[in-house]
Amino acid sequence: MVDVIIVGAGYGGMSTAALLAHSGLRVLVLEKSPLLGGRASFYKDDAGYTWEYGAHSLRLAHKGIANQVFAKLGDEIKFLPKTPDSKLIFNNRLWDRPEGPLGFLKNPILSFKSRLLLLLFMAKIRKANPAMWYDETLLSFYQKFTANKELETFLGFLGMTIMCADPDKVSAGEVIDFLQRVLKAGVGVGEPVGGSSQLFSKLRFHVETRGEIRLNEKVTSIQVEQDRAVGVLTDQSSYTAKWIVFAERLPLLFDVIAKDLFPQEFVLYCEGIEHSSSLIFDFITDYPATDINGGILGVDIPLWARFQSNTDPSFTPHGKHISTWGIMLPWGFDGDPDAVEQTEKRLKITISKTFPHLLPNLVRERKLIVPVMNGNVLTPAQSRPHRPNVKCSSIGGLFFAGDTVQGEGCSGDISFSSAMKAAEGILEEAGNPG
Ligand SMILES: Cc1cc2nc3c(=O)[nH]c(=O)nc-3n(C[C@H](O)[C@H](O)[C@H](O)COP(=O)(O)OP(=O)(O)OC[C@H]3O[C@@H](n4cnc5c(N)ncnc54)[C@H](O)[C@@H]3O)c2cc1C
Repeated sequence: MVDVIIVGAGYGGMSTAALLAHSGLRVLVLEKSPLLGGRASFYKDDAGYTWEYGAHSLRLAHKGIANQVFAKLGDEIKFLPKTPDSKLIFNNRLWDRPEGPLGFLKNPILSFKSRLLLLLFMAKIRKANPAMWYDETLLSFYQKFTANKELETFLGFLGMTIMCADPDKVSAGEVIDFLQRVLKAGVGVGEPVGGSSQLFSKLRFHVETRGEIRLNEKVTSIQVEQDRAVGVLTDQSSYTAKWIVFAERLPLLFDVIAKDLFPQEFVLYCEGIEHSSSLIFDFITDYPATDINGGILGVDIPLWARFQSNTDPSFTPHGKHISTWGIMLPWGFDGDPDAVEQTEKRLKITISKTFPHLLPNLVRERKLIVPVMNGNVLTPAQSRPHRPNVKCSSIGGLFFAGDTVQGEGCSGDISFSSAMKAAEGILEEAGNPG
């Protein structure tokens, strides 16, 4: 018997396991795939390329939620130096991304009147209490401020900071919460040296001090006796533990545990969770396509990009250069090839207009259709106050971690944050050993 079994080796599962192992508990991580990392997995091929499942940036860099996990482990993330030349794409043009609200005033991306309004809008955001706005959309928050249509086109950019470009869909409270954190931290985003590989090699080290990670082993059911989780069955074996952490998206929970063990409201919520989907391209060239080393974000098109080799040559063999581009697929994407084709076309037209020399000079291209990007889109219904607690209310000893449960921030930050909460909850029940 181990102390804790963790189902899934993504950000959420590995962070929970590392924190618990660091505090002295014996942990067993079970991961069905051959790779660590889940939706942030990666591998290096024999030619020396690191292929990430989408390039992962960490919000607020060393001041962000991800780094809080590593600070608790005494092993903080090493970030690439802050780069001052981030860009925006708006109306098929590349713009410098202004630093802070005042920077926007000087940037001719919008008319002067709209820029002034933007400054006032940012002041309103700075003062707002996020708790008052979780249940409203960004558009409704904006419409209470002004009806200016030009500035409205810019709301997509604010939504994209938390990966939901649609102002009529994204929770105003979540946008306000994130922008307030950025304004306070003075840094928007950071890139870990070596990408996700750095994070998972650190997490793996901490897990293995007090436990084991078994890859290629799928949990087929979580065993419950007298309203308490007592162990798991896998496709290879069975294990018992005092606590179980399900560190995968909640809609998949009912693949391993019967629905009728949970309150109906919880089941309905989990089954209805809306995720996002995206299309990701890695482009390889023989020369640097640009010297830009900051991130690129779309304002009127939901895209993001990075020329990784400009800041971190470890991603490619000598003489090769990689850039990664992502674009959101339509909401509710169900694998429709026409939607993929149209989204690809839209992205490539934008790239051709902003970086005309990139696509004609590719030596290699990798295309990834990503059915689930963010497990939880930050709509009002899925905003922080509405997400389920990390401790299961109906089954003792069962905890959740990952990007669909209670945790702060957005995207991967929810997984890191929920992992800290789940580890705290278990340690409290265990009487805080170590
Ligand atoms: C292309 C892309 C780009 C992204 N970019 C960013 C970014 O820049 N910044 C950011 O913060 N977030 C980003 N995200 C979101 C982020 O990757 C996710 O929020 C985060 O990785 C989710 O981690 P998780 O541990 O909650 O879940 P997952 O990573 O999905 O991990 C769950 C794990 O459980 C395993 N599993 C499932 N069922 C079983 C079972 N029965 N038995 C054993 N194992 C099982 C799965 O194989 C998986 O490894 C991006 C996501 C994608 C896909």
